[in-house]
Amino acid sequence: MYFDLIVVGGGHAGIEAAHAAAKMGVSVGVVTMDKSAFGRMSCNPAIGGSAKGHLVHEIDALGGIMGQIADRSGIQFRILNRSKGPAVWAGRCQSDRKLYSVEASKIISSTENITIVEDSVIEAIEEDRKIVGVRTLKGNEISCKALIVCSGTFLNGLMHTGLNATKGGRFGEQPAIGLTESLIKMGFEAGRLKTGTPPRLKLESINYEILEEQPGDENPQPFSRRTDRSKFPFLPQVSCWLTKTDSSVHQILEKGFDRSPMFRGLINGVGPRYCPSIEDKIVRFADKPNHQIFLEPEGLDSDLIYVNGFSTSLPEEIQREAIAKIPGLENAEMVRPGYAVEYDYLPPYQIDLTLETKLIKGLYFAGQINGTSGYEEAAGQGLIAGINAALKILGRKDEFVLKRSDAYIGVLIDDLVGKSTDEPYRMFTSRAEHRLLLRQDNADRRLYEFGHRFGLISDNELKEMKEREVLITKSKDLFDEIKFKPDEINNLLESKATNLIDNAEPVSKLTKRPELNLRDLLQELDLEKYPLVNSLLANEKALEQVEIELKYEGYIQRQQDLIKKMEKLEEVKIPESFDFLKLKTISNESKEKLHKVRPRSIGQASRISGVSPSDISILLVYLKN
Ligand SMILES: Cc1cc2nc3c(=O)[nH]c(=O)nc-3n(C[C@H](O)[C@H](O)[C@H](O)COP(=O)(O)OP(=O)(O)OC[C@H]3O[C@@H](n4cnc5c(N)ncnc54)[C@H](O)[C@@H]3O)c2cc1C
Repeated sequence: MYFDLIVVGGGHAGIEAAHAAAKMGVSVGVVTMDKSAFGRMSCNPAIGGSAKGHLVHEIDALGGIMGQIADRSGIQFRILNRSKGPAVWAGRCQSDRKLYSVEASKIISSTENITIVEDSVIEAIEEDRKIVGVRTLKGNEISCKALIVCSGTFLNGLMHTGLNATKGGRFGEQPAIGLTESLIKMGFEAGRLKTGTPPRLKLESINYEILEEQPGDENPQPFSRRTDRSKFPFLPQVSCWLTKTDSSVHQILEKGFDRSPMFRGLINGVGPRYCPSIEDKIVRFADKPNHQIFLEPEGLDSDLIYVNGFSTSLPEEIQREAIAKIPGLENAEMVRPGYAVEYDYLPPYQIDLTLETKLIKGLYFAGQINGTSGYEEAAGQGLIAGINAALKILGRKDEFVLKRSDAYIGVLIDDLVGKSTDEPYRMFTSRAEHRLLLRQDNADRRLYEFGHRFGLISDNELKEMKEREVLITKSKDLFDEIKFKPDEINNLLESKATNLIDNAEPVSKLTKRPELNLRDLLQELDLEKYPLVNSLLANEKALEQVEIELKYEGYIQRQQDLIKKMEKLEEVKIPESFDFLKLKTISNESKEKLHKVRPRSIGQASRISGVSPSDISILLVYLKN
């Protein structure tokens, strides 16, 4: 068997990688252990949320599939942080777990150039430091030009509940054996991480009457720009429910600490600090009397409730006893206990910004294997790896690297490669220094051109975006020119409880006032005189962009200036063959870090922790010579 590209794993990273590469015209074999598990949600049945929603929008704007799958299987949509600035608005949806996977399968099985192989890869094969194929558990040898490993939590996966440990990648699924060892043989370093999931409860065993209801938005917004808004939402929408723990719950949980695999040191993998288990929260935040618990339906025809905020690997009987003390859950039936899973990952200093490994040409890693946690982080990496592998196979000289100022995906990969990670990495808005520019609302403006270059965004989509861009620019120019006289606008200003004006003021200046919105202001104009304004009012997306750019003009300009300054450092390239170990007069620590990461530019080198500004000056002198 031969495929141009083999993708190991049909999870969130694998499906994006396979879809993008296949669309670009290369033959793709997706080798995955269970062909009914495409895009399976291992943990929470939800997509998006703070910073993760941004990733979904970016994936969509590059031509990826996560946004469309989420839209088709979403049973509750919300925009988080609406009361804050647009940089942190973030879409989140509750998904029907089963349908999410069904929709993912539909896309993968209907994409030309993709062949699905149900098998487990036990070995990667290289020749002269170039990948040439894989060996599988069923005894097949499959050749390829490139290989993307998206193995998630499966490499030597070990699941823990109390003192019971069972081999497996996630509930009911086998671990992947052999692949880590074959990568180690090639010279890679592997590490161990862990993550956890909460128990599942029976839907009808919960007393909703005493719980706080959390409905979705009244006017739900899809993630994907390709979703037909006239049919959206596709599915009936449901509510989630809120409750909380108290000291009686904590006391019961504490009784099980002597059988906690984490506290007993049975788990070697490092867990996610920001997404701790309930036992971790009790210990780390001992002065907190309660913790919020969100009860989330797993699907329209599922009778399961996901207990968000109660991830645990304590013994099953302790979980059951503690659950029964939580308000609303007194009679709750626990269908499945929570558990933790430990798995191998490959510390990501070993990959390049294209996600190709530095050690073996044609071998790429994407998703949880790179130390990240989360569906969206995985999908973003899968897409980038898929595009780069396809470019290489097609013999194209270009490669696809997003900068930190282009996208959250750029921040994610730059962080992974430059800083590596020894704990599960998840995206936060605070990780992006240019977050006012990296908004979810402008993802298409930032990224359509890239997606189009690789054939993942259509001519029409790009054309529509470019026309919108012209409308935005012309409108902003016009709003500097059109001025309101006091008698034309003071009534509106008074009704909005904002200061009246004494002299004429341009629309652009008035828009900056937080009390005013652009649509209200424009409606005070004599619209017959301004056909452009009529076009803008009819184009909701363009109107939103103009308003955001006017309101935040000062901040946006400052971020753009900063990017220009930093770009100078990014432009100073470091040759691939540069020998960092030969650098004199810099500390051994810096030398080793530079050697390990092998940065491509001075900008990237300057972000490596432990590399000081004076090390950078010395590096610059060497490069000049
Ligand atoms: C118990 C549990 C709890 C989690 N909790 C959280 C959480 O709280 N928050 C969070 O953000 N994320 C959590 N996650 C992680 C989340 O599931 C992953 O981040 C995400 O699914 C990673 O996507 P991926 O594509 O890298 O891998 P996965 O979605 O895990 O997909 C991997 C795929 O690869 C296949 N595969 C693996 N190895 C092989 C092989 N050798 N041969 C063939 N096929 C192979 C598997 O069968 C699977 O289909 C949790 C995961 C688990 C299992």
